[in-house]
Amino acid sequence: MLNKNRPPPHTKPGFRSHVRAHQEITSNEVWYGDQAPRLGKGFSAAKTQERATTVTGVLLRAAKKQEKNGSTDLTEKYFQLLDKIEGCRPRSRCGSLACPRCARAFQKAKIAAQQAVITQTSKARSGKQLVFVTLVPKSMMYGPGTLSRIDIKKANRWLKDTLKQIGNRTTLGSADLGWETRRGEGYIQIHWHLAMWTSNIDNLERKLKLIFSKTKKHERPVDVREAEDLGFLPYMNKAIKLPSLLRTNRTHLPELMLVLDRTEPMDLMVQTNLRLSAQCGQLAFKPIGRIEG
Ligand SMILES: [Zn+2]
Repeated sequence: MLNKNRPPPHTKPGFRSHVRAHQEITSNEVWYGDQAPRLGKGFSAAKTQERATTVTGVLLRAAKKQEKNGSTDLTEKYFQLLDKIEGCRPRSRCGSLACPRCARAFQKAKIAAQQAVITQTSKARSGKQLVFVTLVPKSMMYGPGTLSRIDIKKANRWLKDTLKQIGNRTTLGSADLGWETRRGEGYIQIHWHLAMWTSNIDNLERKLKLIFSKTKKHERPVDVREAEDLGFLPYMNKAIKLPSLLRTNRTHLPELMLVLDRTEPMDLMVQTNLRLSAQCGQLAFKPIGRIEG
């Protein structure tokens, strides 16, 4: 629903970083269709379209609720985001991570580029094992009402800096915003899913556990597993679990959508020893310097 009294939805990215990459993806309709890479059942273009309609419905209710509460700032923000997502169409993509269609397009473009560089890097280092790593920092938890403090770019800078402790390794992956519940309290936990190479999984896990320490009993701050194939890539690049949030957590979804909307899609990714570039409607990673373990 486009409100005539409001400014037109933003169709420009509005981000200062990765402008080229952003535009290459949003202007390539291939990423919005059903061509490979596939994300699995439930993530077809048609299903995504349905989800986009549901998300705008959720935003509309949130906007009306805030209007009733007298919060003009939030009302305006929700209406603006709603207009932006509703205005997203071929050749005029909104490019917002809060838009299920655009989020999926970025996810697919990232997967394609990662598939290429992982295959190339694995060939260059036979004898090393590709591993799928999940890292959960003990801080970086955000409860409802505080999600505006989430700064993915800053979190990723912290991670890259922290990972220097395990040596100069080629790493690529993405930050992920997981909704967790503990003792009835829900919160967003920032964490990372990464691909790395190692000749000694146990050793790598031990080193990571020294950095990402346990805080509570049943926590698993570090998970390292052998990657038998690249099937983990869609999961690694999902950013949020939208289907599950729509099923169980529509209350906090609007607030989370505002966070996603101001996050540059490329900024979700974290990579070391690799440089991101974009041309001909796709992304590519190029090794920086010599490839080593
Ligand atoms: Zn869009």
